[in-house]
Amino acid sequence: MKWRGRRESANVEDRRGRGGGTLIGGGIGGLILILVFAFLGGDPADLMNGLQTTDDANTGTYEETEKEKELSRFVSVVLADTEDVWSEIFRQQGLVYKEPTLVLYTNSVQSACGTSSASVGPFYCPGDQKLYIDLSFYDELQQRFHAPGDFAMAYVIAHEVGHHVQTLLGTSDKIMPLRQQLSEEEFNKYLVRFELQADYLAGVWARHAEGKGVLEEGDLDEALNAASAVGDDTLQKQARGYVVPESFTHGTSEQRKRWFNKGFQSGSLTGGDTFNARDL
Ligand SMILES: [Zn+2]
Repeated sequence: MKWRGRRESANVEDRRGRGGGTLIGGGIGGLILILVFAFLGGDPADLMNGLQTTDDANTGTYEETEKEKELSRFVSVVLADTEDVWSEIFRQQGLVYKEPTLVLYTNSVQSACGTSSASVGPFYCPGDQKLYIDLSFYDELQQRFHAPGDFAMAYVIAHEVGHHVQTLLGTSDKIMPLRQQLSEEEFNKYLVRFELQADYLAGVWARHAEGKGVLEEGDLDEALNAASAVGDDTLQKQARGYVVPESFTHGTSEQRKRWFNKGFQSGSLTGGDTFNARDL
């Protein structure tokens, strides 16, 4: 992606080098009601584990490496791009886009959704309308998920911004109460549609990025490859050797790729109704 020298977002909050703090009251029972929209599937309880952070008192400035400096600039440019694209799409609908904040952190972080460890991967918390990313996920994408490339990371950010768009459009509010009303298995079906919609919205953004001429050869493939790499079936096969479709929360590799691509093809909100789609 052509990103050097382009506008960086002002909505980046740098909390690197600071501890996430210890888990606030309520324990798992109290916090489980707050949905966190993580990029990866997995057990939501992982998000809520009481983390004993030892670096709470560390208030020193975080010393970033050259590579981290590059990465933080890159994600700031991608965030700025999403601001431009979504502001325009919202404006065309007669709506106003409220820009989200992107929090950079290391190890663990405190959000309105509780304390989370970097092991859960990037996530969006609707409670404070912020995206949370530990930049080490860039290496993880490459090494653990075999999804290298800057546009793979751009897709990750665009997916989380997609959850923000869902929050602004009221979709998140419709989904969240279902968690208490439905069995886990039934709720997961909604979650998959919700997550695939975030992939679709990431595709919509990518289309507009292409329209601006900032995509390079291979970028689209990097995003599609990343979408495929984080499919529930692929992740479960890697983790335990078999697949439990009832426990899917994000969709299969094929589905994630397909919905990203659908968004890329359409470039608009129309066509992204995963909730009423017969064929996922
Ligand atoms: Zn997600």
